[in-house]
Amino acid sequence: MRTTSFRIAAVVAAAALTLSACGDDGGDADTTEDQAAGDDTATEDAAAGDGDGIIIGTKFDQPGLGLMGSDGTPTGMDVDVAKAIAEKLGYSEDQIEWKESISSAREDLLESGQVDMIVATYSITDERKQRVQFAGPYFVAGQDLLVAADSDITGPDDMGDAILCSVTGSTSAARVNEEYGVALQEYGSYSECMEALSSGTIDALTTDDTILAGFAAHAGDFKVVGNPFSEENYGIGLSKESEDCEAINEAITELWEDGTMEQIIEDNLGAADYTANADLNPPEAGGHCG
Ligand code: GLU
Repeated sequence: MRTTSFRIAAVVAAAALTLSACGDDGGDADTTEDQAAGDDTATEDAAAGDGDGIIIGTKFDQPGLGLMGSDGTPTGMDVDVAKAIAEKLGYSEDQIEWKESISSAREDLLESGQVDMIVATYSITDERKQRVQFAGPYFVAGQDLLVAADSDITGPDDMGDAILCSVTGSTSAARVNEEYGVALQEYGSYSECMEALSSGTIDALTTDDTILAGFAAHAGDFKVVGNPFSEENYGIGLSKESEDCEAINEAITELWEDGTMEQIIEDNLGAADYTANADLNPPEAGGHCG
């Protein structure tokens, strides 16, 4: 990015694409370790970059939010938000390099300079703010449960012996670990949880209702319980060195004011019958930079 010392680069998109096909787990051990450790090759590539583009981290396996297509282009609400913000910062779409950013790797990716920003269902938390800064919030979701269409489960207090799945490094896993005495199976990505749910290895998947709605629309035979038990304030993750945080806050405010955000939500989550919680949206962007 031009206003920072970020190391921009052509991180080879093809490498990411091998992980990106719909239904790919996107979070196998190698990928997670590479991302968490700060992949050396990517960092070298980044340092050698020409500096006129932007590397944006997003999810590659979350339908409706960030899903990599077979053509090498991701789609989803977060992808459209990222594109709109990049445009306001002066980047055209062909200047964007996409990098998969699984939940547990996001702070590492930002701190190591492998990405310039992350737009990936990334909740603003005090713990994360120790390591990164956030523009936003740009959207507020809520944690919920995805269960079989004929399940009687009504919430995390009502799980009995059921096994719940979530993702390492997410607020979703942390919350059920800390606040509910539920048997939790953790995976590296939500698509891995979906595979386990489909095969009957686990009984429910917990994370943000946005993600669950996207999977429900994609997979069929599942329902979102519809009883959210958290507020997930989605921020744009930036390294502490970034100087773009306030400009992105302004961009987010404009996107809500001119109707772009509503359109983005409808375009990407409308088919999943997801509507933003009007009590919490639009949120006021600001207060998490620095
Ligand atoms: N929004 C939550 C988080 O940032 C859960 C979704 C995710 O893991 O991306 O941890």
